[in-house]
Amino acid sequence: MSKCTNFVVRSRGGTKRETWEQFKIAFHSRVQKGDANECWPWLDYCQDGGYGQIKYKGKGLICSRLAWQFANGDADPGDKKVMHSCDNPPCCNPAHLSLGTDLDNRMDCAKKGRFPTKLTKQSVIEIRNLAKTGFTHTKISKIYKSCRSNISQIIREETWTHI
Ligand SMILES: [Zn+2]
Repeated sequence: MSKCTNFVVRSRGGTKRETWEQFKIAFHSRVQKGDANECWPWLDYCQDGGYGQIKYKGKGLICSRLAWQFANGDADPGDKKVMHSCDNPPCCNPAHLSLGTDLDNRMDCAKKGRFPTKLTKQSVIEIRNLAKTGFTHTKISKIYKSCRSNISQIIREETWTHI
């Protein structure tokens, strides 16, 4: 064990020498843990869309995926998605995380009554304008009662590309 363990753990990007165990500690120190059923937000760097990101050996990893992974004996989610039951991207509470496919994600949206088909041309224009003025994707998804992932796709112009 090197003498500068603390430094290694504290530096956000980690180092090439950081072990998985040290990384785990660094990860958990950056999650604001609350009650079992509360959201546990990621306190460090978040990428576009609000998902927490942390580096391990130079590679950027998504924090909610890691939170799921750590809570499930380091199981690799593979090509499955880690979904938030709380629709709160920075949340790292394993109780709010579950594994699913893209299809499950869309089914989940539908189950919660959030169908993107309800959106009109007008609302798509409004959504993009709101994003430009600094509204978060999560906030916008609440306003339009649409799934956050659908809102993000609209803003990134991956859907509704004709507008
Ligand atoms: Zn949550």
